[in-house]
Amino acid sequence: MQKVKKTEIAYIKGVGPKRAEAFAKLGLKYSTDLISVYPRMHLVNTTIGSLRNYHDQNVIIRGRIIDKRMPFKPNHPTRIKISDDTGYIESLMWGNTFYREKQFKIGDEYIFWGKVVYNAYERNVKFDMRDHKKLEAGDDEMMKYPLIPVYILSEELRKTWIKPLTLTKIIFNALKISSEGINEVLNEPVRIANDLLDHRQAVLRMHYPRSIEDIELTRQTLAFEELFYLQLVMALKRRSIETAKKGIHFEKVGGNFEKLFNEHLGFELTGAQKRVIKEIVSDMRSGKPMNRLLQGDVGSGKTIVAVFCFLVAAENGYQSAFMCPTEILAEQHFKTLKNYFDKLGLNAVLLTGGQKKKQREEVLESIRCGRAQVIVGTHALIQSSVEFRSLGFAVIDEQHKFGVMQRAKLLAKGSNPDVLVMTATPIPRTLSLTVYGDLDVSVIDELPKNRKNIKTALRGETDRLKVYKFIRDEINSGRQAYIVYPIIEESEKLDLKSAVKHFDILKNDVFPDLNLGLVHGKMKWQDIDSTIEAFKDKALQMLVSTTVIEVGIDIPNATIMLIEEAQRFGLSQLHQLRGRVGRGAEQSYCILMAESSGEISAERLKIMTETNDGFRISETDLKLRGPGEFFGIRQSGDLKFTAADLVKDMPLVEKARESAFKVVSEDPHLRSYENSTIREHFLTNYRESMELIKIA
Ligand code: ADP
Ligand code: MG
Repeated sequence: MQKVKKTEIAYIKGVGPKRAEAFAKLGLKYSTDLISVYPRMHLVNTTIGSLRNYHDQNVIIRGRIIDKRMPFKPNHPTRIKISDDTGYIESLMWGNTFYREKQFKIGDEYIFWGKVVYNAYERNVKFDMRDHKKLEAGDDEMMKYPLIPVYILSEELRKTWIKPLTLTKIIFNALKISSEGINEVLNEPVRIANDLLDHRQAVLRMHYPRSIEDIELTRQTLAFEELFYLQLVMALKRRSIETAKKGIHFEKVGGNFEKLFNEHLGFELTGAQKRVIKEIVSDMRSGKPMNRLLQGDVGSGKTIVAVFCFLVAAENGYQSAFMCPTEILAEQHFKTLKNYFDKLGLNAVLLTGGQKKKQREEVLESIRCGRAQVIVGTHALIQSSVEFRSLGFAVIDEQHKFGVMQRAKLLAKGSNPDVLVMTATPIPRTLSLTVYGDLDVSVIDELPKNRKNIKTALRGETDRLKVYKFIRDEINSGRQAYIVYPIIEESEKLDLKSAVKHFDILKNDVFPDLNLGLVHGKMKWQDIDSTIEAFKDKALQMLVSTTVIEVGIDIPNATIMLIEEAQRFGLSQLHQLRGRVGRGAEQSYCILMAESSGEISAERLKIMTETNDGFRISETDLKLRGPGEFFGIRQSGDLKFTAADLVKDMPLVEKARESAFKVVSEDPHLRSYENSTIREHFLTNYRESMELIKIA
């Protein structure tokens, strides 16, 4: 195996100690780190005579200064004339006159980055200069390539007065030092099967492609490599779950299952619900540990699916845990469950952080001795004081609100319990394969029959009175309404004030004859809960709230939602919020109030009025915001891609996944990778993920 030559960045030509420090702050220490920096774009390397062919493009040329005119006034540009064998062109120089005075001696040779602007009227081209660099040793060699990379200059680097073309040259120097020994990172069969370049070629051609088409080709190779390794982690993780650990055999399904199905449901399960219950229960009976993601749009009826599984676990003498992201949701779920369980003679308890000490002790004791069969709770469930007698089945509701570690901690409370994570944030398949690639996926792709589409409209300030009248009319005919105000963390206090202030106005001035309730995150959860209960019991006709009601609340008679300042929410969040209505047989409405703050935001919100399909919405959201934001900070650490673009690389994700799973099934211990650079690459770059495998 060839060792890559590494040089400390400070010793690369053009760097020096100050800049090395700036690079170090960006996590770049060696020449080898520099060569994995991706170009921001490529400049077409051309001659002055051909510039007119590159209208509006960024190009790089090399030329000699043949004329220079300093301006008469200090703030005016200097005019320089540049020539090469094919012609000459004039360009304007701005910036500090003192430097301009010293620069550009006639006869000196430079390379220039500029944008070509063709003026059709004057029938000539202008060279709009972006950067320049005096020609120096080694530039000749660099300028042989047809496309020259430029890289992003971060704030840190800019402080060291580094200019784009200087950085280009530094990275070129790094490539010269280190490219020789770049090793392969995929094994040959995988590479060939997927039509990829070898790694060294890909790296070289990413910086210095032979043609425009080459850029996408090399990106695909590098993206595949990233995705392949991530999927390899997934495949190994999956395997370690399947082989090393023994799961629980839930042998009996039991009479309660039938009884709930036939007597206590009050509605008919949808085909999709029946199908996923079957999938889950057959997993539970198999004796292999289950790790399954249940995906289903808001209101698709995931909770009842979990209830059926709890019955199976209880029938076999195991406890179940149901972990929810908020106390309100835990409380709500607890009530729903209790309603069913009381009829079936099952014992459910609630465990949340806000409980009184004595009550908490009792609950903990019932969990410890096994009297509690189903434990509903918040992340209070994963505290060390909670000991289960026999945790066999764990459900995590609204999984996207939790981190990977929390899931792992809950599982550690049992011995290989079966796990079902549920999410209503419909995840585009690309992402679900990358973030949840170690899980089996069940999808509820059908809403209960009685549901109507929620009619959604975008309204502005001028429509406010009409909107209020509409809400009043609906309330008069027996319905209920939510009014939601945004609350965004950094300006939490201000936002809260706005919700409280508006509540007063609504209550005293707009709807003085109606009963209104207010809930927000700064209230005690018991108070929130009793307000929500009052709303549920129809003692309140209108619930004014912040986003605390985002998930889980289930009140079918509430059919109107007014969302204020809708432009401040992400699309997926709006979809979640909107999911609080449209839960019964009545027609529901969602009104998005938005200040017309620019076209993009209106364009963005328009999709909400066009569709109720969570998948379409989340795909749009993902495109607009990128995966990091889409998932919030919690998950973004798992998604450090540089070449891969999760939005457009779906086919690549599938291919990488297929290859990785094939490798692991043929060679589960990666023996054929032993002593290879590939294994080394894997261990250095994916150690963190491997640690996670051990924990999860
Ligand atoms: P989500 O998938 O958003 O968690 P829930 O489980 O809260 O949805 O269910 C939403 C509402 O739909 C609840 O009131 C539930 O009782 C009801 N529901 C669930 N399944 C059906 C069905 N098959 N037919 C009619 N209503 C149903
Ligand atoms: Mg739910």
